[in-house]
Amino acid sequence: MEYMPSGVPGPEPSFDDREYWERCQQKRLAFQACSACGKCRHPPGPYCPHCSSDQITWVEAPTVGELFSYTVIYHPAHESVRSRVPYNVVIVAFPDLGVRVISNVVNAAPDELQFGMPLKLVWGQASNGQAIPLFEKM
Ligand code: ZN
Repeated sequence: MEYMPSGVPGPEPSFDDREYWERCQQKRLAFQACSACGKCRHPPGPYCPHCSSDQITWVEAPTVGELFSYTVIYHPAHESVRSRVPYNVVIVAFPDLGVRVISNVVNAAPDELQFGMPLKLVWGQASNGQAIPLFEKM
């Protein structure tokens, strides 16, 4: 499933988020969690923002999140998305884990998005072959 046109650049993993993207490539959405205090965080980083521990474990995300916030893009910020406007950019919350991810809802018109609506995790593929977490309205 592709939400964006093929010319849109995909994510380029860095040292801190390489493991996150490797799990995504296996179609597993997981977040870093602190081994010391147990709190999750996203995006991935080397230290816990709550207790500064560098001990990391990973927690699988539920397959359903909720729409925390969104915007609808009408003016293309990059030539590669000119054919795609209007499109949404959403923040999906996983309240039980205390983390949020930025994504898209692939099957909703702009006027169908509602704060708090449940969103089901699906997988797309960026133009560089990276699997990316996307969401569908339920
Ligand atoms: Zn911690």
